This record gives sequence, C-alpha cells and structure tokens, in this order.
Amino acid sequence: MSSVIDLDPLQAGADGSYIGRWRERLLDRVLRVGLLVGTVPALLSIGRAFQNGEWRHASMAVAVLACVSILIKHDAMGLNARAWMTMLILYSLGLWLLVRVGAVTQLYLLACPIMAVLLLGAPTALAMLAACTATLVGVGWMLDLNLPIAGFEGQAGMKWINQGANFGFVGLLLTLSAAYMLRRLENALVQQRAVADSLRSSEESLRQIAAQVPGMVYRWHFDNQGQPTFVYVSPGAQALLGLSPDDLLADGWRVHRMVTPDDRARLAHALSRAQVDGAALTTEFRVSLADGSEKWIHLSSSEVSRDADGMVHNGIMVDITERKASEALVWQQAHFDALTGLPNRRMLRDRLAQAMAQSRRNQQPMALMLIDLDHFKEVNDTLGHDRGDQLLVEAARRIRECLAHEDIVARMGGDEFTVVLPTLNNEVQADLAAQRIIASLGAAFMLGPERAYVSASIGITLYPDDADSIESLLKHADQALYVAKDAGRNRFRYFTRALQDQAQLRMRLANDLRSALRLQQFKVEYQPIVDLRNGRIHKAEALIRWHHPERGLISPALFIPIAESTGLIGDIGDWVFRTAALQVQQWRKQIDPSFQISVNRSPVQFRSDAEARPAWEVHLAQLGLAGDSIVVEITEGLLLDTGPGVAEQLLALRAAGIPVSLDDFGTGYSSMAYLQKYDIDFLKIDRSFVSGMDQGLTSRTLCKAMILMAHELGMQVIAEGVETEEQRDWLAQAGCDYAQGYLFARPMPATKLGQLLGVPASVDTDAGGAPRLSAPADASLPGSRLASMTYDPDMVSASAATQPARSTN
Ligand code: C2E
Ligand code: MG
Ligand code: MG
Repeated sequence: MSSVIDLDPLQAGADGSYIGRWRERLLDRVLRVGLLVGTVPALLSIGRAFQNGEWRHASMAVAVLACVSILIKHDAMGLNARAWMTMLILYSLGLWLLVRVGAVTQLYLLACPIMAVLLLGAPTALAMLAACTATLVGVGWMLDLNLPIAGFEGQAGMKWINQGANFGFVGLLLTLSAAYMLRRLENALVQQRAVADSLRSSEESLRQIAAQVPGMVYRWHFDNQGQPTFVYVSPGAQALLGLSPDDLLADGWRVHRMVTPDDRARLAHALSRAQVDGAALTTEFRVSLADGSEKWIHLSSSEVSRDADGMVHNGIMVDITERKASEALVWQQAHFDALTGLPNRRMLRDRLAQAMAQSRRNQQPMALMLIDLDHFKEVNDTLGHDRGDQLLVEAARRIRECLAHEDIVARMGGDEFTVVLPTLNNEVQADLAAQRIIASLGAAFMLGPERAYVSASIGITLYPDDADSIESLLKHADQALYVAKDAGRNRFRYFTRALQDQAQLRMRLANDLRSALRLQQFKVEYQPIVDLRNGRIHKAEALIRWHHPERGLISPALFIPIAESTGLIGDIGDWVFRTAALQVQQWRKQIDPSFQISVNRSPVQFRSDAEARPAWEVHLAQLGLAGDSIVVEITEGLLLDTGPGVAEQLLALRAAGIPVSLDDFGTGYSSMAYLQKYDIDFLKIDRSFVSGMDQGLTSRTLCKAMILMAHELGMQVIAEGVETEEQRDWLAQAGCDYAQGYLFARPMPATKLGQLLGVPASVDTDAGGAPRLSAPADASLPGSRLASMTYDPDMVSASAATQPARSTN
C-alpha cells in the first residue's frame, strides 16, 4: 500500500486543491481500515450475543460496518457528504457506547473533532469538539454514569463539569495540533504543486520546442535485457521516417528494422557501446522508407542516464541526405575529372598507391603508362573547344575499352591520360595494351559533322623494376613519353636507364644554358640558300651553335627545346636576331644590297614575354636596314595559335615589310586559309620530303603539289635538306625556287661564307667588326651550278663563284 502523502503531484482533488485530494485519500483509507479493524469487535459481539442473547451490541456493530461499506462504495457522493456521514457514524457510535458501556468510551467522542479537523477543517472540528464535550457532560450528568473521581463525591454536576473541561482541553490540544499539522501539510502540498506546475510547463515548452526542431527528438529506453522502448517521440518522426510518434511508441525496434542491412551492424555496435559505457553517442546510418527511397540519418544522443530498469537515451535524429549528397559530389569533383568521368590526378595517386601495395603483396610487376594525344592542340584550335572536349570524352572511352576491368584509367589534365596495369601476367601484356590504345586512338573521331584524326604517344614504366615511388614512376613514364614523341609520335616507348641519363643531361644542360649567353658560348652559323634558277646565292639561314666548354658543340635540336621550356629562348632568340641583323648589314654592303638572312623564331618567342621585348622591326629601323633584310622563319603550328598577340605580331612583321617563311612545311598541321590570312612569303619543304624523293613517287608527288599550291598562293618555295644533284635537278625542274642543303654547303661561320661569296679573306666579315667593302661577289657555290657540276662537299670551302650578284626582290 502506498503512503497517503504519496500524492500524484499532477492530480488535484475534486475541490481542485491538493489538500482535498489528500482528504479523499485519507477518508478512503480511514473507512477501509475502520471496516477491517471493526470487523474483529463486531465478530466478537456476535459471538457474545449467541452466548448471552444480548444482540444490541452486535446489531450496532453490524449497522456501523454496513454504513462504512456503503460509504466506501459510494465514493461519488463527494468528500464533504462522506466526511459528514463518517463524523455522524463516529458520533453516533460514541454516543451509543457512552450510554451502553459508560464513560470509559468517551474516547470515541474525542476522535470526532480530530477526524473533523482532518476531513472538514478547523472550524467544523471546534464545533464538533464543543458538541462532543456537551454530549459527554449532558449524558454523563443526566444518566449519572459511573465516573470515579476523587474529591467530587456527591457533586454530580461539578464532577461532570470537571470531566467536560478535561475532555474539552485535551480535545482542543489534539484538534489544534492536528490543524497545525494539516496547515503545514497543505503548505507543503502547495509548494509541491508549484514545482509540479513549473515542471509541467517546462515539459510542455520542451515538447513544443522538440516539435519545432527539424528531425526527430526522442527518449529511448533500453531495459537491462537491451530491449528498446520509445518513451517520447517528437512529431518530426512523420517527416523524417514517415511514421507517427505513436507508431514508434508502440514498437521500440521499428527504427532498427528500417536501417539498411549494410549499416545495421555498425549502428548496433555503436548503441551497445553507448549502453556499456554510457558515453554520448554520434553515428550515421541509412534507412529505407516505405516508399522505397533511402535517407541518411545522423543520430546524436547525450550521455543519459541509467535507471533501475536499464538505460535512457535522449537524442535527436536528423536527415542528412542532402549533406551526404553534396559531400559525395564534392568528393566526386575532387577525385574525378568532370569532362570524362575518369579518376583525376589526385585519385590516380590513391589508386596507384593501392596498386603498388597489391603488386608488392602478390610479387607481380605492374605497369604505368602515360598517354599523350598527338595533334590534339591543332584539333582544339581549328575545330573549337567543344569539339576538343568531345574528342577527349571519346578518347577516354576508347582507352577504357582497350583495357581489362581491373586496369585503371585516369585523366591527368589536358590531353594526357594515365593507365595502370596493376597485374602484369606476361611480358607482352603492356605492349599489347599500348598497341591497342594507339590503334584505337588512331581511328577517325567523328565530332559532329567534322572528322578529326589524332594519334597517341605512350611512355611506359614498370614497378618495381624502374622505380619504387609514385613520383619516380610518373617521372619515368614522362621521360619515356618524351622519347616516344621525339621519335615521331604515334608510338610507345619503355623507360630505360639511358632515358633517365638523357633526362638528367637535359636538366644539366638547362642549368648551363642559363649562363651560356653571358659567357659568350653561342655562335651563329649561316647556311646559304641557293636560287635554283641560276645557282646564285643572296639568302642564308642563321643557325645557332652552342660551344659548351666541356661537352663541345651541342646541336640546337637538343638545346632549343630546353631553351623553350625554360623561357631562355626569348633572350637567346633576340641575340641571334641582332647578330644576324648586323651580319646582313655588312653583307648587304659587301655582297649584295638585297642579301637576306632568315632567322628562326620559336612559337614560344611569340607567346611568352613578347610584348616586353623590343620589336625586331624597330631594331632593324634603328640599324637603317630595310624590313626585307631579315626573313622570319616560323613553323606551321604557330598559324593555328589563337593565343593573344600572335596574330598581331605576325601582321606587325608584315606591316614592317619583314617576309615570313614557313619552316619544315608538311610536318605539322595547317590549313590553306591560314596561309592566305597571314600572307606567307616562303614555304620551306621539309627535309623529310626531299630525302624521301629518292625512295618513291609519293614524296615527289607531294613535293610537286606543295610547289604548285605555294605558287598558286603567291609564295616562293625553298627545298630543305638537298643533298644530291638528283634532288636538286628534280626540284629545279619541278619549279622549286630555292634550295638549301649539304649539296651546296653546310652551315658555316659568317667569315667563311663571306669568303665563299666573294668577300676578301682580309676583311673581317663577322658581325660586330668593321668590315671593309669588297668587290661585288659572285654569289654562287659549286654545288649550285645545276646538273653540269658534281657535288663535292669540300668544294664549298674552295673558292668563290664567278657570277655577279643580283637581286631577286
Ligand atoms: P631548321 O630551321 O629547319 O634548320 C635546318 C636544319 O637542317 C639545320 O639544322 C641544318 O643544319 C640542317 N640541314 C641543312 N641542310 C641539310 C641537309 O642537307 N641534310 C641534313 N641532314 N640536314 C641539313 P640545325 O642547325 O641543327 O638546326 C636544327 C633546328 O634547330 C633548326 O631547324 C631550327 O628549327 C632550330 N634552330 C636553329 N637555330 C635556331 C635559332 O636561332 N632559333 C630557333 N628558334 N631555332 C633554331
Ligand atoms: Mg629554319
Ligand atoms: Mg627546317
């Protein structure tokens, strides 16, 4: 049985007060105890009545117990009515016992005011006390009840007044004590009520806040067997899980069952750990909803608390599906190439590291390939970036198709791709893969209405044979790629130690190149260009030479690319030009006033810091030279360059009257439209076509076509690399205007060429000196005397020719 003071603080009595509720309970308990305890004397009275036929006591006891039972049963009567009836029963019992048993039973009357103060309040109790005292004195006096009190023998009136005073005094003490106790109790209950009210209102506020919080606020209880029950669930459950709070309150396992199988074990583990150590819990998991969709949920619960029955978790679950999606997107963007969908450079490093670890574990070699698309820039420049992108996407698809599922393909940026073959099962596997890729990328690309061709150059390196780190593998593959490109593209090359040596050589040369200009290690040589119609020479090409103090003469084919990649080409190129300008100034005076020197100008010189350098045409003007004293040799690729300033610089050269010559024609990529747009003066047929002439018809046909086309476009043609008389004769007959090659002369110092062209040996013709004017030279060389002469390389240094100089311009 719970204590009478154990009130439910949230429930007031029928009169709305907590003391009323307390009184209801007290009355209830008193009646029940009275019924229970009163049964014993009632049974005794009945027993006695059977023995002595005295039924009045038994009847009275039964009547009282019957009334009490009725009062217990009819609790709907209300507190006051029941309390008054209880008082009436108690008073009647006291009065009856007083009459029947005597003054000794006055305690029943004394109980009346005490019960009255507890059930009906102090004023009623005092009235009750007065009534009971009067009853005791009146009944005792009138019936002269036996009351042995010393000193009052024979004074019945005084005796009962004295007894009434004692009764009233004790009754008053007890009534006041009970009233005081009751007041304290009432105060305590009022305070308890205030606390309960504030608790209730703060809980209500919390519920309201919880209902506003996005996500689902909950209280979860795990009993000692780990069985969960939801104690509270906020309305957010509906939006989060598609379930009402009641659904969850009815089924503690409901959320668990919605968790996707992949995440279930992780969630269970996190929960059981939180139950063991009571620590705060944070975890993420996916749930499958009734409509088939999936959501990411973030669960966080505070540290909670353990009760006698188990563990309580207060927490919140929120929807993080969008955040997860954007995280996935960010990750995707950071690790994959947006255009082709392939892993990017960063992702490649991760995959490569994994592949290397796997290769170590399995003790099986692995290959890394670097693929570079040849001529992609030209496609991009001519057809536009959209078509270029289309080509890259298709190239990525083709590369992927050439490989096995476990092979890795990544895009490094631009037109560069990487392939990792994580497991090499035989020696030719990498070769075959490279061949497949080259063949596949060599096929035509249909880009909308356009058809484009590229090829692929591939560098291959092996792990662990060639290198043991990602950096070195990539570096080695790059070196092998460089060699594949250098060897003519559209092929693959393996990394070798020799390649590494070459790469190191390039690096050292790059260092030495920085100081070469200052240390005057460069020289310019000149190779004559022969007029095929009459064998005369009034043109030469300036070709730079590097005399390295330790390595000797280094070919420009080796160091010009280094100068380009290091940016040194700007200074070096300007120096060649200024040297050639001084030289042509001399030769115009000494040999032929229309003498021309061609100067090679790298595309990099047009792009890099071109604007910061003095313009060549300005320099020529300062020397008092006409624009046509210098010819600028460019390569085909430059015409396609859409970079800022390239077109302007080309047009500025033209405006200054400086002729432009298209070098190595036929090896690059150019279109007729560009040849016309920039009004090119000379077209130099590449050496490979001239040397190919001896082998077959194709080269001759191509040469002829080039000559015809150039003439149609108003250009003059120079054939490069003419080494035999047959070539010279054929070219002359085909209408080629000029020729340059070892048949006539190798590139040589200015002094030597000057002598050959008629400048007296005593005159220092090297640019920068103070030349004296010589007799007009007969500017022709032995090899230039067409078919009538045989070629003798030594002849070039023999003597000057005899024909008079003439101008072609
Ligand atoms: P290029 O402009 O096409 O120059 C012609 C190259 O062919 C020269 O090589 C020349 O020596 C070589 N040659 C001439 N006739 C024959 C022949 O009959 N047979 C053979 N096998 N070769 C012949 P060189 O001097 O080694 O120059 C190579 C390249 O370096 C040049 O090709 C040019 O592109 C570049 N270069 C040279 N000097 C400069 C320069 O001052 N600036 C720039 N930017 N590039 C330069
Ligand atoms: Mg050239
Ligand atoms: Mg050339």
